[in-house]
Amino acid sequence: MLVSGLPGLIGSGVTLRRQQMRWDDYNAYMSLEDDAPITDEGQTAASSGGMAVQITGLRFRYPGVERETIRGVDLTITAGSRVALVGDNGAGKSTLVKLLAGLYAPTGGEVVWKDGSGRRLMGVAEGGGLSAVFQDFAKLYISVREHTAIGRLDALADDAALHEALRLAGSKPYDLDVQLGAMFGGFEPSGGEWQKLVTARALLRDSGFVFFDEPTAALDPLAEKEAFEMFMEVTAGRTALLVTHRLGAAKLADSIIVLQDGTVAEQGTHEQLMALGGVYSRMFRLQSSWYE
Ligand code: ADP
Repeated sequence: MLVSGLPGLIGSGVTLRRQQMRWDDYNAYMSLEDDAPITDEGQTAASSGGMAVQITGLRFRYPGVERETIRGVDLTITAGSRVALVGDNGAGKSTLVKLLAGLYAPTGGEVVWKDGSGRRLMGVAEGGGLSAVFQDFAKLYISVREHTAIGRLDALADDAALHEALRLAGSKPYDLDVQLGAMFGGFEPSGGEWQKLVTARALLRDSGFVFFDEPTAALDPLAEKEAFEMFMEVTAGRTALLVTHRLGAAKLADSIIVLQDGTVAEQGTHEQLMALGGVYSRMFRLQSSWYE
C-alpha cells in the first residue's frame, strides 16, 4: 500500500500520490490495520516511552525535479523527546516528515526506528506504529464517534476514552453521535475544529511517535503558548516531531532542528542555538521583533 514498500513504483507515482494524499493519510494512519511494530527479534514493541528514530544520509528528489529536496539529512531523535522542526518555507520540512512517515520512499540513506530500549523495529510506518496530524488531512463525513475511533475500532464504544481524546486535543465536547458535514445534514466544524478532531483521532491511537505538521495560520503569542502547552501535554510519554513556524513554541521543545535547503543547518536546545548565533538566533530575533 505504501510507496516505501513498493520502491519500483515511485517514478511518476509521486504526483498521483500527492493527489491521493488525503486518502493516503486516512489509509496510512487511521486505517483498520493496527498492528503494533515488532522488534528485529520478533517481539511486539511496547509504545510506552516512545520510539526513537535514527536517520542517516537521507536524500529525496521529486520525480521530474532536477534538484534534490532532501540533500543528506543525518539526525537522531531520542525516545520520549519532543522535537520542533523549523525552517523557511520550501526548506523541505513537510517532505522530510512524509519521508519519515513512509509516504515517500527515500532516494538514498536510511531511516531506522528503535524502541525505548534501543531495539530495532521493523515495519513501523507500514504497520500503523505512527500517528500523524498533517495539514492535508482527510475530512470524513461520519459521526464524531467513528471519526475519532478510526484507528482504534476497539474504542468505538468506549465513550470515556473518546471524550478524553477530544478533550486532550482541545476540541469541543461533542455529542459523540453527531454527524459531521453540513452537506450530509450534520454539523460542519470550522477549519480549526477539524484540526482538533484529527488530533483527537491521532491521540487515541497508542503509537510511540506522533507527527504534527502545524497549520500556517498565525496565532497570537498567547494562543501560541496554549497550543504548545497542549502539544506537550498530549505527547507526554511519546516521541513527537512538531513542524512549526512559531519560534516562541519551538523554544519550549527538548530539541530544535533547523532545516535549510534540504539539510540540517543546526540542532540543539533554544539556549544552545541562541548562543550559537546562527540562522536560528537570527530567525528568533526577527520573529520576536514582530511580536513587540
Ligand atoms: P516546507 O515544508 O519546508 O515548506 P516542502 O517540503 O513543502 O517545504 O517543499 C520543499 C521543496 O520541495 C519546495 O521547493 C517545493 O516546491 C518542493 N516540492 C514539494 N512537493 C513537491 C512535489 N510534489 N513535486 C515537486 N516538488 C515538490
